Amino acid sequence: AKAAGGNRFEFADAEADARAITRHGLTNALPAALERGEFFIEYQPLVHMHDGSVHGAEALVRWSHPQYGVLGPDRFIPLAERTGLIVPLGRWVLEESVRQARNWQSQLGGAALRINVNLSPTQLHHPGLVADTVAVLEQSGLAPGALCLEVTESALIGADDELLEPLRRLAALGVDIALDDFGTGYSNLANLRRLPVSVLKLDRSFTQGMQQSPANPVDVKIVEGIVALAHSLELAVTVEGVETGAQAAQLRELGCDTAQGWYYARPGAPDRIHTLCLSDAVP
Ligand code: C2E
Ligand code: CA
Ligand code: CA
Ligand code: CA
Repeated sequence: AKAAGGNRFEFADAEADARAITRHGLTNALPAALERGEFFIEYQPLVHMHDGSVHGAEALVRWSHPQYGVLGPDRFIPLAERTGLIVPLGRWVLEESVRQARNWQSQLGGAALRINVNLSPTQLHHPGLVADTVAVLEQSGLAPGALCLEVTESALIGADDELLEPLRRLAALGVDIALDDFGTGYSNLANLRRLPVSVLKLDRSFTQGMQQSPANPVDVKIVEGIVALAHSLELAVTVEGVETGAQAAQLRELGCDTAQGWYYARPGAPDRIHTLCLSDAVP
């Protein structure tokens, strides 16, 4: 038994080593991957809950790795964060997705779809954030009001005025700021008034609570409370991770404004969004 235990231990060590080596390799490969254009963006629609029409799309980055195939952001965003490469990578994502939003706008005859882009904490702290964002918007001709930057609730917990200043400036230009993964960060709700946000993105864990039948009564109460608070502060509520019609019905009932999830559409190529807008194929 002792030997087996020892082996297991060695095996676990070897696995941890392999993971560390992969992480190390991926981290080193990031700059060249950006140069070579190995990153691409999938877009997932955001849908109005009251009529199912497309409101916009969230840009979700992927890495088409020559050896490992397509890697999801959870595999490399934390590495890019740690090395600072997230700044040029994030700038590329912003540029590319704003350009795409502009394309949809011309394909659809002027109706501006909204584009949601994720910002990580390092980008938030980077002094070039406002100037870069303004430059990207000006180059593309996209109206600032069509851009929504998503910042996680946890990145803003305890944020001081210095950290909030760039977000306030962007908000003053008309860019929407969304609080991502809302409800998981234990932030002080009264603090919400201080933040320059206009959208709360309710974390997927609440959506999962709507899956049971009947829905988890505690989650229902929490969502009810968050929606009431959000609407009294004139914030819109988006729900994430909607996978079933039952969840969608329940969350619509509770007053959520927009939704995102596999029930409506998986993240996909930019043409999908354009097609969905024209076909009204979204449930
Ligand atoms: P997030 O911002 O919370 O994005 C939502 C995640 O939920 C996405 O995972 C999306 O594919 C997934 N999702 C959407 N609908 C459903 C559903 O119905 N069920 C389930 N189970 N999942 C659903 P993804 O694409 O793997 O992205 C993971 C995270 O990586 C994102 O979480 C975001 O924090 C980060 N991320 C993605 N793109 C970027 C980026 O360009 N920049 C930065 N800084 N972070 C990014
Ligand atoms: Ca997000
Ligand atoms: Ca706006
Ligand atoms: Ca989220």
